[in-house]
Amino acid sequence: MKTSTPQEEAPLLEINNLKTHFPIRSKIFSRVTGYIYAVDGVTIHINKGETLGLVGESGSGKSTLGKSILRLVEPSSGEIKIQGTDISKLSKSRMFPFRRNVQIVFQDPYSSLNPRIPVGKIVSETMKVHGIASGAEAEEKVQKLFERVGLRASQTLNYANEFSGGQRQRIGIARALALNPKLIIADEPVSALDVSVQAQIINLFMDLQEEFGLSYLFIAHDLAVVAHISHRIAVMYLGKIVEIADKSKLFKNPQHPYTQALLSAIPTPNPEVKARSRELIEGDIPSPRNPPPGCRFHSRCPKVLDQCRVEVPRMTEAQPGHWVACHLC
Ligand code: SF4
Repeated sequence: MKTSTPQEEAPLLEINNLKTHFPIRSKIFSRVTGYIYAVDGVTIHINKGETLGLVGESGSGKSTLGKSILRLVEPSSGEIKIQGTDISKLSKSRMFPFRRNVQIVFQDPYSSLNPRIPVGKIVSETMKVHGIASGAEAEEKVQKLFERVGLRASQTLNYANEFSGGQRQRIGIARALALNPKLIIADEPVSALDVSVQAQIINLFMDLQEEFGLSYLFIAHDLAVVAHISHRIAVMYLGKIVEIADKSKLFKNPQHPYTQALLSAIPTPNPEVKARSRELIEGDIPSPRNPPPGCRFHSRCPKVLDQCRVEVPRMTEAQPGHWVACHLC
């Protein structure tokens, strides 16, 4: 499934039918009693210099998908191609050079910053491990990186607990940039920040993209957050992509009832408009341990048909570059 993008060259990242199923056991070492179908047959691609926004409620499998691409969790099957090379089954040593190309920025960088080591040292160690720079050269590069992400060079000597949430996110971005990656997976990078700081961090991501030609998989549970930064948007529900399109097409003409509901939940300045267009979805997202048969959204869909309860909708190209998995399309 290829959607239209400004790029003609081969995708930087290509994911084909990726599945990440976590086995469930009643006790350690006992037999498997079931699976959590966290990611269940995802096919997406990201071009050079492109941002793909990935949205969906908590529990939709977005973060697991991001971690599976980096193999921080091992996928069960499918392909993960980086510039044409499938890394999904490479050994750790053969994975190593590819790790540089794809970095991750977490929602809470504090949990991944060692509180006993100055933050500059944490970043320079990453450079050393990957053979990019060491010693005074690495220190100088880290200071420049800190300045580039809006911190002071002198702050490389501080510890993680001396920074605000927004500053820590800037450190997380500096650490990701230290390896000159081609793709950054930003996993809910602004969800824990105040709205004013969110805008600053999103603008920083956009400036860095232009400067370094970066690609992003930008994960968020809120369509409003990805709206500004994304070129295309993929909507994920219970382990599957249900709609993917250019941002403008998705916002102007959402096809999937789930996307329509997510869009109608975005606050608008005009309360009359909001009241008329709001389409609430009932209930919570079902457990990925027992996903509903047929269309996974059928238990909450306001437009459900009998067919939806038994037949899985296929991804079809409703309009050029606009793909939807719904029996109504
Ligand atoms: Fe709703 Fe059926 Fe479409 Fe699923 S396939 S989103 S249940 S109309």
